[in-house]
Order: sequence, then C-alpha cells, then structure tokens
Amino acid sequence: MSGVLSLSYLIGSVSFIVGLKMLSHPDSARRGNLYAALGMTLAIIATIFLYKNSEGLPLGNYGWIFGGIVIGSVLGTLAAKKVQMTAMPQMVSLFNGMGGACAAIISIVEFKHLIHTGANIADQPIFTATILLGLVIGTVSFTGSMIAFGKLNGNIRDKIIPMQQIINVGLLVLILIFVVGMALGFIGGDPMTMMTVLLILSTLYGILFVMPIGGADMPVVISLLNSFTGIAAAFGGFIYDNNVMLTGGILVGSAGTVLTVLMCNAMNRSLVNVIVGAMGGNKGGAAASSSSGGSYKEITPSDLAVLMMYSKKVIIVPGYGLAVAQAQHTCHELEKLLSNNDVEVKYAIHPVAGRMPGHMNVLLAEADVSYDKLLEMDEINPEFSQTDVVLVLGANDVVNPAAKNDPASPIYGMPILDVESAAHIIVNKRSMKPGYAGIENELFFQPKTSMLFGDAKDVLGKLISEIKIIAS
Ligand code: NDP
Repeated sequence: MSGVLSLSYLIGSVSFIVGLKMLSHPDSARRGNLYAALGMTLAIIATIFLYKNSEGLPLGNYGWIFGGIVIGSVLGTLAAKKVQMTAMPQMVSLFNGMGGACAAIISIVEFKHLIHTGANIADQPIFTATILLGLVIGTVSFTGSMIAFGKLNGNIRDKIIPMQQIINVGLLVLILIFVVGMALGFIGGDPMTMMTVLLILSTLYGILFVMPIGGADMPVVISLLNSFTGIAAAFGGFIYDNNVMLTGGILVGSAGTVLTVLMCNAMNRSLVNVIVGAMGGNKGGAAASSSSGGSYKEITPSDLAVLMMYSKKVIIVPGYGLAVAQAQHTCHELEKLLSNNDVEVKYAIHPVAGRMPGHMNVLLAEADVSYDKLLEMDEINPEFSQTDVVLVLGANDVVNPAAKNDPASPIYGMPILDVESAAHIIVNKRSMKPGYAGIENELFFQPKTSMLFGDAKDVLGKLISEIKIIAS
C-alpha cells in the first residue's frame, strides 16, 4: 500500500473518531457529521485512485464505480431532502439495510474469489470464517432492516409466528454449525452451494427475528441492526486488511450497541423484553383507548394566553405529537413571543421523547430554537417546582406519573419529567387516547392539570394570536 493511501486511511479513521465525538453535542453535531463524511470521501477517493493489487494493477472499472457513486448520491440526497421528521426512523432503517447488503455482497464476492484461487477453504479457517460471518451478519442486518422499514412505513403488520422463538434459536444454531463446519472443513460438498444455503438461512433469520417485534419498538431494533451492520463492515475490513473500514465498522458497531443499551435503559426495559415484545406494537398508540372515566378540566387558548402572560416562568415539554403536527416553528414563535414579554421560557427534553434518540433536539434545531434553552431531564427536573406553567405539547408517556407510582405499570421505573411539581400543567393533545406505551396517564386527571385539545400546530397558532392581542 502506498504511503499516501495509508495516510489518507489514517486521516479518514481520525475524522470518524473526531466526528463521532462531536455528534454528542447539538452545537457541534452538524460539523461532526461533515468531518466524518469528508474523511470517508477522502478514503474512497484515495482507494479508487491509489490502490494497487498484489500484481501492481490499479482498481479499474471506473465506469461502474463512478456510475454507482452518481446514482447513490442522487438517490440519497433526494431521499434525505424529502423525508418527513416522523419518517426518519424508516429512512435510517433503509440506509442501514443498504450498509448490511454491501457487507454481505463483499463476502459473496470474496468467497467466490477464494474458491476461484483453487484453495481449499478449510485450509484458511480464520479467513473463511471471517467472510462467512460478514455474510451472515450483513444479510441479517439487510433483511431485518427491510422488514423494519416495511413495518414503520405501514406496509407490513406485526406477525406472531407460532413457535417463533424455537424456530429462531434453531435457525441460529444451524447458521453457526454451517459457519464453523465450512471453516473447519467438516461440512463438505460444493462450497458455493453451501454458501447459498447459509445465505438463505441468514435471510430467513433476519426476517423472522424482526417480524414479531412490535412496530413501535422498531427504533430500538433498528439501533441493534445498525450495530450489526457496523460489525459486518468491520469483517470486511479484516477481509481486505483495510484499516479505515475496520475502524469505521468498529465505531458503528460499538456506537449502535451503546445506543441500543441507552435506549433500553431510558425506557426501563431490557433488550430481551423489546425483542420478545412485551409493550410495543399493536398495543401502543391510537389502538388503545382511555378507560378511566375520571374527570378532567379543559382550558381554552384565550385563558391559557392570559395565564402565560402573567407567568414568570414557562417550561415547554415537547413530545411525539409535536413532530406529528410539525409544530416546531409555531412552538418557537410562541417561545419568542413570551420571551419578548419578559416570560422566561425553557424546553424540557426527555431522552426518549419522540420516536428516536435525539428526536426533539433535531426537531427544535430545525426551527432554530437556541440549544441553551433545551435542558436535559436531570437538569430541568429541579426547576419545575419554581415554574408557573408547564405546557406539555404532544407528549404523554414521558410525563406519566405511573412510572413512579404504579409498580404494575409497563413503564414503572422509567425516569420521567417531574411536571407535577409546577403550579399549572397544561396538556395539549387531540384526545384522551394513550401514547406509545398504550397506558392511561393519571396526570390528565389531576386538579392542577388542564387539557388543551387539538392539533398542536392549530392550537399554538390560536394561542399566539391571543397572546398578541393581550400584548398589543
Ligand atoms: P407518546 O407516544 O407517549 O405520546 C404522544 C402523544 O402525542 C399522544 O398521546 C398523542 O395523543 C399526541 N399527539 C399525536 N399527534 C398529535 C398532534 N398532531 N397534536 C397534538 N398531539 C398529538 O410520546 P412521548 O414523546 O411522550 O413518549 C415517547 C414514547 O416513545 C415513550 O414511551 C418512549 O419509550 C417511546 N419510544 C421512544 C424512542 C426514542 O428513541 N425516542 C424509541 C422507541 C420508543 P392524541 O392521539 O390524543 O393526540
């Protein structure tokens, strides 16, 4: 490998690490993404023009390579520009699936090369196992991500297959036997046929593994599949002895794993619980309905406008409904209006508010809300007791006191925003239907709480008009 090529791989690897670190803060996240993308571009360009094989020959096939790059770039840019905020998990799933497919294709191509050299695959057990593991993990990630995409997009329904756990474990054991057997040579026969069988088994496993998982649990599964793609890419790095691919794969694999664990912790659920599917899916969202029959108060936008204008401090709690309503810009307008009238306004960000990690941060950043107004749960919780009005905008589970008070609740133990300690709690949603967890929220029936029914964008629009009248 030429010195310049090695240097560009080193720069690429460092840019991934620096970029990943920068993604941990909203202020630097965009730049971090850009640095990592530039590092990847450098590594790709250097490979295309500087790589020489063992016979000193360059890559060639430039038409195919640049054709693929152009088509991929156009499709990727259009998809990223067009996607709605609420469809972000689907898009992540689709892109992740493409990564898995690439890793699997690399393994297929390299397995063919290995056979064509005339070598006995069992003579190189580690190399063969690396190729086969890349194939299995990449295929599971691809097929699993495609099923996840279909479910989130509403094309595929959750399906409980009879004895699915037994079938899944059986498939996993079979896959393992094939990988070890082919690498060590105790499974004979035509290697290409064996590889095809392994491909079919992995495809089946990817489908059956994701199929029964509740649609609403998909973000956690997508994060898990994302880590699979990283691991599969890292195997590709081993196959090609390519450091930048190895580093990138390991970073994606470990970041995906950490994210999966963090999401499970923030929801107070174990990964096994998500995979077996105890809470999500059809039980969540609009499918369930309120059964309490308890009484609740309502407030009108004009009464709320007066209340807010006489407040010193207002905290806004954004949730999934804000993203559904696409009310982030209107919400920012309300914040500016109140601030201009000497009301202190902050946002309380719960780690799993919305449907993907950082959902609320991304949503509010799109509306140019200042980052220093967004406070994480631990930071904002002590402030609720000195707050006049809390406005809960399309959030439900993340403010449900059952997480603290009801050991029988599926969300018991999940840390929540302590909105109850504020003087007035206003909850905006369209109905009394539950949120993602499919459970009732006793907060709505408390004496300090008033419901403000309607689509978040419409209601905020009316509230802003009323405040403007008072302020004028
Ligand atoms: P929830 O899903 O609990 O509640 C959202 C509420 O928004 C609903 O009750 C709905 O009520 C309301 N809503 C929907 N559309 C609108 C609209 N147009 N205008 C006003 N309100 C609307 O959301 P939260 O953000 O509170 O909680 C997130 C949930 O998602 C948690 O249970 C979390 O565990 C889960 N989750 C989060 C992940 C993440 O990474 N962030 C990943 C996986 C799951 P109505 O229909 O009556 O309007």
